[in-house]
Amino acid sequence: MTYDAAGDAETTRRFCTALDEPGEALLHLLWICEPDHSQHTLELGSPEHREIIAGAEQCAVEVSDAVGRLRARRDDVLFVIASDHGHETIDEVIPVNALLIEAGFKEGTDSRDVVLASSGMGALIYLSDQAADRRTAIAEWIRGQAWSGEVFEGEELEQIGQRSDTALAIAFSMAKRDVANRYGVRGLSHVAGDIFMKSDAAGLGQHGGLGAYETNALLGISGGGFTPGRSGHPSRTIDIAPTVLRHVGVDYNGMDGEPLPRD
Ligand SMILES: [Zn+2]
Repeated sequence: MTYDAAGDAETTRRFCTALDEPGEALLHLLWICEPDHSQHTLELGSPEHREIIAGAEQCAVEVSDAVGRLRARRDDVLFVIASDHGHETIDEVIPVNALLIEAGFKEGTDSRDVVLASSGMGALIYLSDQAADRRTAIAEWIRGQAWSGEVFEGEELEQIGQRSDTALAIAFSMAKRDVANRYGVRGLSHVAGDIFMKSDAAGLGQHGGLGAYETNALLGISGGGFTPGRSGHPSRTIDIAPTVLRHVGVDYNGMDGEPLPRD
């Protein structure tokens, strides 16, 4: 199968066939690459992008229909549909790695003293033992840049779910502008240039930081005693697993997340 909308459609078809004869399996999981995959190479809100979203929605409709068939057979299905992030439009790609070298914090492009790991609209910086004492100076320098957003260093990393006792020294989000792109989709953000994300270019979609839109994920739950309607309860991606485990009667104690309230 292909890594695109056609592959998603075929994966969904096979998934629904499996749902029609679920056997003893307690959990069925479907992951599709769209619309995230194409959003990295399209303008958000463009006709091509809307077509991709319609395809992903069709996959969701097919699964929903299969869930309906299971419920008609009196199966108490907990149906969860979710994304783990949203997208924002790339404002500018900032060559953070090169700027770290230029500012004298990092020895060279491939040096191991200071290592930048970009997640797109945010990035992590790891320091070797020899470079550990550069942490505060680098964090201060990032805070002073027009292209940066929130910066976390040392124990502050715990506030965003990262460990503070490893080589990971600094995490930061990139600067945002709450304006619309030419198709009316709000949210522009700089990207920390990354050698692994060759598709990054101004105007296309990306994520990986702490922006309001890129962290605005989708979560819909039905069945399992959940009350129909919109919930104002805050939810996190890590709450999905304990919610599922509660439904199938498996112990979820000790997990990072919590099962979501049903009303
Ligand atoms: Zn993505």
